[in-house]
Amino acid sequence: MDIRAQVSMVFHLDKCIGCHTCSLACKNVWTDRPGAEYMWWNNVETKPGTGFPTLWEDQSHYKGGWKLNGKNLELLSQNKLDAFIKLFYNPNQPGLEDYYEPWTYQYENLFTAPEGDDQPTAIPVSQITGEPVDIVAGPNWDDDLSGSPLYAENDVNLDELTDEEREQLFEIERISMMYLPRICNHCANPSCVASCPSGALYKRGEDGIVLVNQDMCKGWRACVTACPYKKIYYNWKTGKSEKCILCYPKLETGQVPNCFQSCVGRIRYLGVLLYDADRIAACMSVPNHALIESQRSAICDPYDPKIIALARKNGISEEFIDAAQKSPIYKYVMKWKLALPLHIEYRTMPMLFYVPPLLPVMGKMDNGHYANTIDGFFSGLESARLPIKYLANLFSAGNVEIIEYVMKKLIAVRYYRRSLDMGDIDLVQINRMMREGNVSPEEAEEIYRLTALATVDQRFVIPPLQREEAISETCNPELCRGSCGLGVPVNVERGP
Ligand code: SF4
Ligand code: SF4
Repeated sequence: MDIRAQVSMVFHLDKCIGCHTCSLACKNVWTDRPGAEYMWWNNVETKPGTGFPTLWEDQSHYKGGWKLNGKNLELLSQNKLDAFIKLFYNPNQPGLEDYYEPWTYQYENLFTAPEGDDQPTAIPVSQITGEPVDIVAGPNWDDDLSGSPLYAENDVNLDELTDEEREQLFEIERISMMYLPRICNHCANPSCVASCPSGALYKRGEDGIVLVNQDMCKGWRACVTACPYKKIYYNWKTGKSEKCILCYPKLETGQVPNCFQSCVGRIRYLGVLLYDADRIAACMSVPNHALIESQRSAICDPYDPKIIALARKNGISEEFIDAAQKSPIYKYVMKWKLALPLHIEYRTMPMLFYVPPLLPVMGKMDNGHYANTIDGFFSGLESARLPIKYLANLFSAGNVEIIEYVMKKLIAVRYYRRSLDMGDIDLVQINRMMREGNVSPEEAEEIYRLTALATVDQRFVIPPLQREEAISETCNPELCRGSCGLGVPVNVERGP
């Protein structure tokens, strides 16, 4: 076993209000400079919708992630034969039209326009050419337009839905939507790292953060294609690739990342997971429907004495082991099994997780009102307002049973709390519901408290990263060896 520590995040989607504050907080600090105007290391999408860049989930076009070839994983974007040619011509790269031409407004015109009959206006001008532009796309162009035939109906996650389910989803007066904040998933099996011809991308040994060494990057952009989440961006001014750095300069000094700090809905949780890097390739080489369980099997119990001993042997600090034991991420992902990775079928083993939203799902189950009776409530999942199949395509590689498990548990917790606060639900019914939702009263209380009442100390459980120890000559070289999990050698930063 090769035990590693991973800084990981959970997004609780029921709490996201789609305000985009996280995106702006990130942009103001990291990508507000020439060459990076179009980048959104953090963006928030309305689902159903086509996202940013447009249709990023359509891997038949973009060729991101891994494919299973027999028992082996291969990059979808390139094989040994065409890797060299694609350095010079890559038809699967997203172009500016797939993102948008960044623009600003000619604000000075408001003050300097000559006196006239008309009110002066600030026309939009391109941030690249400085010329006036017609705005035809933006980073959140389909924001709140769920149901629009232009956006939502093109969402690739709707592909396997029946006509009836689609109709139900787009019934105009009952349109449902959810918000999906996205950053780099700091994957354990990152296709971006494996694709880089220059060895510029690496996964930090001590915390699993995936970074681009700007000195080594030659701007080949193989990573832009290989990342299925399209979370690597090419800076047209510097000629280098850039990506979310999980605010590591802040983490190293014990501060929360910008997106976390600014989040209005308090939907983000940050904590440590311990995982077995030796198992990554095997875990990601199983059929789609088994991927979630397979990933869980690589995440280790931080209380297991054997795991603790191996973690210590690998140089993982006591503070990190302690943080892994108190991790809110471990609770959501492993203990309660409520948080799931996004599109695990891309097989990059994403290490960020989402609690799927309950609210658009429940809407149709009881005609838009919270039910007074819970008889037959769970069977109503089939007619959920946001089809369960749709959520399964996003969060469980199509495995509907996993989403149903999550939904039943979330519903049971909600009704358990309602029974306590309002006293309007029969105890026998609640007990039955809790049994079917696989949750005890103690666990329901714990889920409720971490979801609704958690303080920042309970949502952010990361010790200062002690970078100086990780890069010192005395550290355990095993920890910093670095690997994408598939035996592909990866450059690991060893010093400043
Ligand atoms: S999401 Fe995964 S594959 Fe994409 S840039 Fe991040 S680590 Fe790399
Ligand atoms: S700041 Fe928080 S609530 Fe607002 S869009 Fe971002 S993740 Fe959602």
